[in-house]
Amino acid sequence: MGCPPATRSIGELTFAEVSQCVRETSILCLPIGAIEQHGAHLPLNTDVIVAAELTRRIIARWGDEFDLWQLPTISVSLSREHDWAPGTLSLGIQSFVALLRDMARDITRALPARNLAIINGHGGNRGVLDSLIHELRGDFALNGCVVHPFDLSKVATGASSPDVHGGKSETSVMLALAPRLVRTEAIVPAAGPADSEAIAGLIFDRGVSFPWRTDDRRLTASGVIGEAHAASAQLGHDIIASVVEEARGVLVRLLENQRLMSR
Ligand SMILES: [Zn+2]
Repeated sequence: MGCPPATRSIGELTFAEVSQCVRETSILCLPIGAIEQHGAHLPLNTDVIVAAELTRRIIARWGDEFDLWQLPTISVSLSREHDWAPGTLSLGIQSFVALLRDMARDITRALPARNLAIINGHGGNRGVLDSLIHELRGDFALNGCVVHPFDLSKVATGASSPDVHGGKSETSVMLALAPRLVRTEAIVPAAGPADSEAIAGLIFDRGVSFPWRTDDRRLTASGVIGEAHAASAQLGHDIIASVVEEARGVLVRLLENQRLMSR
């Protein structure tokens, strides 16, 4: 196939191509999704599609410049805040961390690359992943980062209420990535104005953390927190383009960290 080969998916390489093409300075990109309720209009695998597809596009744009490689997606993660809804699947925190530590250990055994960019499609994983990357560095000498796409995007969404889950941004990105999976007829304007005070106090107060849930009627009556009805495919394309563009700065900083680590 030659290097770079016609693919940048690790799974599509042969074992011999891994040795020929992947280097210590290569960056492995690991999409992490979730299987969880996203209201009446989005599928359970929304976060899987977002994580995997954004990873694919980041690699399509920057893969040759930064030697990026896509790892298989981890599709189930930490979704207990949605476990009232049929179909929601969640790992326990211990299993999730054990899975990722095993992956990290095996990456260092099976691949020469020592950089890992996690593309996290599910906000509920943030706290654990932010702690875990310290262990991946300390225990496995893996130089890592976690990308949170919706926060990395610089696009002003113009949402008039907090956009937390299945709302304007996420629905827009799904309209751009997988329109056939969006049940547009099931998108209804919220029954009343969102209780912004409850959302601010339970979810966004940086001074305190609560185990908030999407069956909490103060936050949502539908499982969605945000304005799905204001979503558009154009906004979705804009968010995706911004995430891909901003990813370059992430990759530069990640490689800079590796250079400093190896001194
Ligand atoms: Zn989601």
